[in-house]
Amino acid sequence: MTRRLLAAALLAPLVLAGCGTPTRVEPTPSTPAPVRPPRSAPTEVAPPPPPPAPTFRPPASRPESRPAPAPTDRSLAGRVVVVDAGHGGVDPGARSSYGTEKEIVLDVARKVAAGLRRSGASVHMTRDGDVKIPLDDRAAAADRLGADLLVSIHADSAENRSAHGFGVWIARSARRESVRVAEALMEEAQRAGLSLRSIHRADFRVLVGHRRPSVLVETGFLSNDADARRLATADHRSRVAGAIVAGVRRGLR
Ligand SMILES: [Zn+2]
Repeated sequence: MTRRLLAAALLAPLVLAGCGTPTRVEPTPSTPAPVRPPRSAPTEVAPPPPPPAPTFRPPASRPESRPAPAPTDRSLAGRVVVVDAGHGGVDPGARSSYGTEKEIVLDVARKVAAGLRRSGASVHMTRDGDVKIPLDDRAAAADRLGADLLVSIHADSAENRSAHGFGVWIARSARRESVRVAEALMEEAQRAGLSLRSIHRADFRVLVGHRRPSVLVETGFLSNDADARRLATADHRSRVAGAIVAGVRRGLR
């Protein structure tokens, strides 16, 4: 996220994370993520599934396993989704020695867009190249297209380098549809074996600058060495994108 966005946030208190994401400190018991020892194997390609995070509980009715959607899954036919890759152009977002946020999230966003289109959705990407798009334009796309959902994709950064994992942000007064998608995203991220944070609330411009349902996904922390190393691999980005597609598909059902 950008300092422009920070300026757009109306309510205090705010804490600036390393990538410039205005991270609103919520006095909720679910905000802190569990801190686990960093995985140490430098040659690790795919991490073992982490234990379930205590901050996130899947519904008791969750099936034990669910088959991958068939190629003929058209459950999003007629749905309009705006896929927003954060940052771009002169705004790199967060950085790590493995890559910049703007590059990582564009690749994830392209994979998400492709997956949603395979399920029949009409997808609009706010950017499909290394360009800077004003936040207002990103938000306006959701209204202009009458989107069923805007999903903004980012990678986080924090001074605490142990902070890690996949998280979802929704507006403070998020509508029911946004909450449902956020919950489905967390469930699918857990199913995909991603380490989890939780659902947070903040009035980011891309969440409140329009009247459509919206979520902002933080795919991991570039300030955390293990997250940054994983996000530098196409396999992991595909896994993250797959979880986002599955979550959107289920959340919009
Ligand atoms: Zn960002």
